[in-house]
Amino acid sequence: MELRNCANCGRAFAYIGSDLCSRCGDSDEDDFKKVKLYLYDHPGATIREVSEETGVEERKILRFLKEDRIEIVEEDNLILACERCGNSIKSGRFCNPCAAKLQKEFKQVIEPLAKKEEKEPIRNNRSNKMHVAEIRKNLGKI
Ligand SMILES: [Zn+2]
Ligand SMILES: [Zn+2]
Repeated sequence: MELRNCANCGRAFAYIGSDLCSRCGDSDEDDFKKVKLYLYDHPGATIREVSEETGVEERKILRFLKEDRIEIVEEDNLILACERCGNSIKSGRFCNPCAAKLQKEFKQVIEPLAKKEEKEPIRNNRSNKMHVAEIRKNLGKI
């Protein structure tokens, strides 16, 4: 049995695949259902309305949004901004055009590397890994 500290309350608990202890996990699920239900009835609600009506913290609703579990339908809500261009987005981390671009750029960087490795296997594995990690980091910054 593996013991972990709950990501929410810090209490030690037996790890079963979730970062939250059973108590926090349950309330998380409850809150999620409340938010989801409210958004179902009020598709144009803002995050503040949702928070006020459901009693769920805005911070938590934001987390649901980032985890792509819910979507705020309101246009230009400015709740979430694309991490690349700053445009308002409804869920996730990037707007659709940026997500597509990033994926393309990532492929362009990773594919030649992979091909190079096929031709001439790099002996020093560690430095190669660091190289890829560095590229990932830089991509995140764009
Ligand atoms: Zn907890
Ligand atoms: Zn963008």
